[in-house]
Amino acid sequence: MNTLTIRYKYIKNIVNDIYLKLNITEFPIDIIEVINSFDNIKIVSYHQFMIDHNLTKEETFEILTSEEGCTDYFKRLDRYIIYYNDIDNKSEERIRWTLTHELGHILCCHYSHNTKIFSKDLTETEYRYKEAEANHFTGLLLSNPIILKKLNVRCSYDIEIFCALSSEASKYRYDSYKKWCKHQFITSSDRYIVRNFQNYLDRKKQDYAEYLAFMNSF
Ligand SMILES: [Zn+2]
Repeated sequence: MNTLTIRYKYIKNIVNDIYLKLNITEFPIDIIEVINSFDNIKIVSYHQFMIDHNLTKEETFEILTSEEGCTDYFKRLDRYIIYYNDIDNKSEERIRWTLTHELGHILCCHYSHNTKIFSKDLTETEYRYKEAEANHFTGLLLSNPIILKKLNVRCSYDIEIFCALSSEASKYRYDSYKKWCKHQFITSSDRYIVRNFQNYLDRKKQDYAEYLAFMNSF
């Protein structure tokens, strides 16, 4: 890897392609549907893996190495399996984030040289860089700032509700959304995405107007 600066533009293009190819028209994003649109990516839960291989919980964690989730890449076949932890009472919001994060690693081509991201060959800097890219991808895909702007979000709780993210993730997303607002740069594919969301945006606007009318009736 020549540079360790997050490839913001590259990641934005990948995310916008997904929005347009799958014709995404509303929040929250159905990440299972997004992942299933890739023929070479399969999702397996830790629970399923445990049953399939007749393992104990401890053995499962020893093999799958991560608390949240991980990915196996079979380079020769160009196929991926994303594993996610559904054993430890993980919330739906958290699982959604994990699955998207793993998809981010795949689409950012973090696996081109290694079959596992947690390879011992990875330096600390490389590891942090790949994590930062996968998280940036996740934030963009699950809470695209172009749409947040149109929804007129005012706090992290709004993001939590609209995008079905955990409150912790929503706080981070709200901070980066505020930064994005300072020098927002809108591309033509962004405009297409907003157009696809128009019905959803109108519906949300109407919900809000009805809510205000209701509150004012007291
Ligand atoms: Zn990761």
